Amino acid sequence: MAEFKGGIGVEIDHIFPVIKKWLYSEKEIFLREIVSNASDAVTKLRRLISLGEEAARDIPDEGFRIDVTLDRDEKTLTVTDNGIGMTREEVEKYICQIALSGALDFIEKYEGDDSQKNGIIGHFGLGFYSAFMVADTVDVLTRSYTGAPAVKWTCDEAGSYTITEDCDEAPERGTSIVMHLSGEGEEYLNSAEVRRILDKYCAFMPCDIYFDDRSEKAEDFVPSPINDTTPLWLRNPSECTDEDYKSFYRKVFNDYKEPLFWIHIKADYPLNFRGILYFPKINTEFESLEGQVKLYYNQVFVADNIKEVIPEYLLMLKGVLDCPELPLNVSRSYLQNNGYVTKISNHITKKVADKLSSMFNLDREGYEKQWNDIKTFVEYGCLRDEKFYNKVSSAIIFEKCGGGFTTLPEYLEGAKDKHENKVYYAQNKVSQAGYISMFEKEGMDVILLPHVIDTQFAQLLEAKNEGVQFLRVDSELSDAMKSEGGEEIASVLDIFKKIVPENTEIKFEALKDTTLPALLNVSEDSRRMEDLMRMYSGMGNEMPVMPASTTLILNSACPAIKALSDKDEECATLLAKQIYGLCTLTQGRMTADSLKEFLSDSYKILSMI
Ligand code: ADP
Repeated sequence: MAEFKGGIGVEIDHIFPVIKKWLYSEKEIFLREIVSNASDAVTKLRRLISLGEEAARDIPDEGFRIDVTLDRDEKTLTVTDNGIGMTREEVEKYICQIALSGALDFIEKYEGDDSQKNGIIGHFGLGFYSAFMVADTVDVLTRSYTGAPAVKWTCDEAGSYTITEDCDEAPERGTSIVMHLSGEGEEYLNSAEVRRILDKYCAFMPCDIYFDDRSEKAEDFVPSPINDTTPLWLRNPSECTDEDYKSFYRKVFNDYKEPLFWIHIKADYPLNFRGILYFPKINTEFESLEGQVKLYYNQVFVADNIKEVIPEYLLMLKGVLDCPELPLNVSRSYLQNNGYVTKISNHITKKVADKLSSMFNLDREGYEKQWNDIKTFVEYGCLRDEKFYNKVSSAIIFEKCGGGFTTLPEYLEGAKDKHENKVYYAQNKVSQAGYISMFEKEGMDVILLPHVIDTQFAQLLEAKNEGVQFLRVDSELSDAMKSEGGEEIASVLDIFKKIVPENTEIKFEALKDTTLPALLNVSEDSRRMEDLMRMYSGMGNEMPVMPASTTLILNSACPAIKALSDKDEECATLLAKQIYGLCTLTQGRMTADSLKEFLSDSYKILSMI
C-alpha cells in the first residue's frame, strides 16, 4: 500500500480556522454541500451510462443511493454514494486543487466584510471544505467507476493530508466522506438534528437518500429513503391532480388549512425554472405577511423568502421555486441588479396575474367567493408593482355593503345616471350604517373598504383612473339625495351657529328623506389627512376633534327643523343640541364629555313628555 503525504499549501494556512469560525451561524449547510456532491456523483455516472461510455457500459442504471450514517460511538458522520467515484489523480485535482481553490475564492470574497457575509444567499458555494466547519479530520474513501485502485485521502484541520492507495475501506464503487466530528461539530452527533437538516435541505434531491443512526438501529430496521426524488414541481402540470398539489402543500408547509389555489410554473429556455406557488387562506392583514417561498437550486434547498429573487409581495404566498440558472454564489446586492433575476420575477408576476384574470373571466362566482382571502395580496401587489397592477387591474373587484361584488367599470356604469366618476365607500358597515342606508334608499351602491390598505389602494385607483374619486359615505351628499329647494331659515341658522364649533360650515338643503333633520359631512381630503395623522401618531381610534372642512347640513324639508323656528329659545337650543348630538354620534365623533351632555339632554327631553 503506497502512502503519500502532503500539505495543502501556504496560502491556506488560515483557511481551516476561518471556515470553522466564520460560518458559525450557518454551520448546518455542510451536510447539504456534502450530500449534494454525492448526488452529483450519481448524476454524473448516470449520464455516462446513458451516453454508453465504455467503462460505464456494464453498470445498471438503478440501485443508486446515498447513505448518511451517524456513528455516535465513533463520533463520525459519513456520507456514502455509489456514484462516479474518483481516481487518485482526480482526488488530487478535484479535492486538493479545485475544491480548495473554490473554497478559497469564496472565503476571500467575503472574509472580513460582515455586511457581505450576511448577504450570501444560503451560503451557497463553499463546497466540500465546509465539512471542516464541523470536523477536525475528514476522510475521503473513494473508488472510481473505471476500476482504478481505491484511494483514501485524510486531511486534518491543520491542512496536512495523507493519500493511501488500494485502501480496503472504500466502497465497491463511489465515495464515502467520513467527517470526524469535534468541538462545535459534536452537536451533530444527534440523529434528530441530522434528520432535521436532511429534511430541510435534501428533501427533494434527485437520488434516494437513506439515513441510519448506527447506535439506534433495531434488528429489523428497514430504512426507506427520506427524500422524494421527483418533486411535484418537476412533473407535468397536466399529470398532477388537485390532491397531489394539496398533499405536497401539507407536507412542505405543515399547513393544515387548504390552499385556495395554486399556480404551477414551468418556464423553459432561456429562463429555465420551475415552481409552484400557493395562495394560502389569509384573512387578516397581519397574518398575510407570513408567507414562505422556498428557493431550490437543482432540487437542493437554498433558503426561504429570498426577496432579491422573488417580488416582495409574492412572499405572502407559499411555494417552491427551483432556479438552476441562478448565480447563487454571489451577494444579495449583486442579485438585486441581475437581469436574469428581474426576468424571473417578471415572469412570476405575469403568471400570477394571468391566473387571477383567468379565474375572474372563467369562474366569476368562484372568484368572488375567494376574493376576501386574496384581496390583501392583490392590493399589496398592485401598490408595490405597477406591472402587476397593469396585468391584474381588470380582475379587481369590490364587495358591496348591500351584498355582491362589482368591478370599478361596472360600478361607474351602474351609477352614471346618479353620479359620475364617483365611488362611494364605507369603512365600517356598522358605524356608518346610517349613511350607507341613505345611499341605498336612493338606489346607490356603496362599496366596502374596511382596511387601511384598502384606502391606500383606492388612492392608487384614483391615480390610475383619471377623474375617478373615491368618497366615503359621510364625506358629501350625493345630488341624488337632494330635492328642489333648501332655503335657509335664518332663525334656525342662528341657533345652530351658537352650538357648533366655529370651523364647521352650516348649510341648508332639502333632502328627499324628510325624516332626517340633519347630518354631518367631513370632506374626503381632510378625513384622509386625519386618518394619516392618526396612523402615524398612534392615536388609535380616538377622534375627538372636528376637523376642518366639516359641514353640518340642515334638512329644510324635515318638519323637525322647520318647527325649531316656532319654539322659544331655550327649547329650540335644547332640540338643536340634540339634533347636532345625533349627527356627531352617527359620524362616530362623540367625546366622553359630549356624550355625557348628550345623554343628560336626552333625559331632559324625555322628562318634558
Ligand atoms: P463543486 O461541487 O461546486 O464542484 P466542491 O468543493 O463541493 O465543489 O467539490 C469539488 C469537486 O470534488 C467536485 O466538483 C467533484 O469533482 C469532486 N467531488 C466532491 N465530492 C465528490 C463525490 N462524492 N464523488 C465524486 N466526486 C466528488
